[in-house]
Amino acid sequence: MVPSTRNEIGAGVSRPEVLISGAGFAGLATAFGLNRLGYQVTVVEAAAGVRRGGTPVDIEGETITILERMGLADLVRAKALPSRRFEFKNADNTTLGSIGVSGDQASETRYEIHRDDLLDILYGAVANDVTLLFGRSISSLDERADSVSVTLDNGERRDVALIVGCDGNRSNTRRLVFGDGDQFTHFMGGYFFLKVVPETG
Ligand SMILES: Cc1cc2nc3c(=O)[nH]c(=O)nc-3n(C[C@H](O)[C@H](O)[C@H](O)COP(=O)(O)OP(=O)(O)OC[C@H]3O[C@@H](n4cnc5c(N)ncnc54)[C@H](O)[C@@H]3O)c2cc1C
Repeated sequence: MVPSTRNEIGAGVSRPEVLISGAGFAGLATAFGLNRLGYQVTVVEAAAGVRRGGTPVDIEGETITILERMGLADLVRAKALPSRRFEFKNADNTTLGSIGVSGDQASETRYEIHRDDLLDILYGAVANDVTLLFGRSISSLDERADSVSVTLDNGERRDVALIVGCDGNRSNTRRLVFGDGDQFTHFMGGYFFLKVVPETG
């Protein structure tokens, strides 16, 4: 069972509203935490739903501690894949590096889980407690003394206590507040590409 994120503020107490941009891992986890702290949370997500796809993701170190605190670690463990070792090879089949360990059971210190399964767990943990607006984005922000006035791309305006930008690498929120994102990115000099192949010869 997914634990409730219902906060501990008593009935009748006004809950400050926060707006989160982006419903990826960061946005959904932030929504969970802020709801638990007592905020009234709305998440705007540009896509028509949570964005699915991708290969499995790794969960290790302090992320496991965070999932324990959220009460979601058992749900993640139940979906964990058998641990695997990955080797990175060059064209001569020489191993350049590796990650992970081999074994039949998922390790207790590192879990690998399908990206969509983690997304479902996080989504399920907040869906009943926060407002999710899909196909929506923030058009403009106006910071005031004690609030932020937000205009969404459908023209709707609202005043919120806090905005949290969880909208990925080329964050829309960061661009609106700080300007063109290119000043915050630094090309590391290479690209890499992951492809799942059914078998290697
Ligand atoms: C489709 C997809 C596949 C991925 N596959 C893998 C994988 O196979 N393995 C892996 O390790 N990691 C993968 N990742 C990366 C990983 O899941 C997370 O993206 C990463 O950990 C960062 O999470 P995040 O929540 O900060 O940002 P993101 O996951 O990038 O989430 C940002 C969210 O903000 C939304 N958004 C963007 N612009 C706006 C806007 N203007 N208004 C409102 N919402 C907006 C996006 O649609 C997205 O849902 C993938 C990400 C995506 C989106």
